[in-house]
Amino acid sequence: MDRIDGRKHFELRPVNITNDYLVSPHGSVLIEMGRTKVICTACVEETTARHLTGTGCGWVTAEYSMLPGSTATRKKRDRGGKTDGRSVEIQRLIGRSLRSVVDMKKLGERTIWIDCDVIQADGGTRTASITGAFVAMVEAMKKLKEDGKIDEIPVTGCVSAVSVGIVEEQPLLDLCYDEDSRAMVDMNVVMTDKGEYVEIQGTGEDRPFKPDELGELLALAASGCRTLHEIQKEIING
Ligand code: UDP
Repeated sequence: MDRIDGRKHFELRPVNITNDYLVSPHGSVLIEMGRTKVICTACVEETTARHLTGTGCGWVTAEYSMLPGSTATRKKRDRGGKTDGRSVEIQRLIGRSLRSVVDMKKLGERTIWIDCDVIQADGGTRTASITGAFVAMVEAMKKLKEDGKIDEIPVTGCVSAVSVGIVEEQPLLDLCYDEDSRAMVDMNVVMTDKGEYVEIQGTGEDRPFKPDELGELLALAASGCRTLHEIQKEIING
């Protein structure tokens, strides 16, 4: 099967992460995975989540949104504080993924607010958000360290994410929208650089899938995440 953009089944789209994309946030990147583009920012607030006050632990939380012009048909803005169900699901996933590699005790009683704003959507916006947000979060932590607020960067490893799926019976890495919309099986995989899973969201959209197909998809995802971890580290170690 030929892919619409000429990629091999095991290839990621071209990945580009631009660091320090905005001036105000403590950390900010633009992540591009092919035509999918997301601005990820990290802002530090010097208070922790209410349920953690007095525990010495910090918190990381995320919000996700798509700009009206990011999709083929205009995406309505959220109004009156109402976030649509899909965005709520995605922002929880981003928050859980980042928290999985943060040592909250070492972060101390402060909150890192992550905002992922999709400026162009072509599939894989949640996975691109996680990969980009990790870099923005670490950049914010580096500022905290420079300011003498923390002694070390409080992460236990890198986290990245990628989509995989089966299109016309072919397992594929990193689906663009054209592929995503035709996928028989669709999966988002979040992994650490230790090769451990943080979350696997897999759905048999058109048909159920077999254990050996799951194995094949997870192997593709692992190779994609490994490449993304290398790119993240290059930027973070700058
Ligand atoms: N999409 C869209 N409008 C929407 C939601 C999604 O055009 O309101 C498109 C967009 O290209 C997105 C893709 O559908 O990237 C796949 O959406 P999905 O919900 O699977 O999330 P994603 O793959 O972006 O994480």
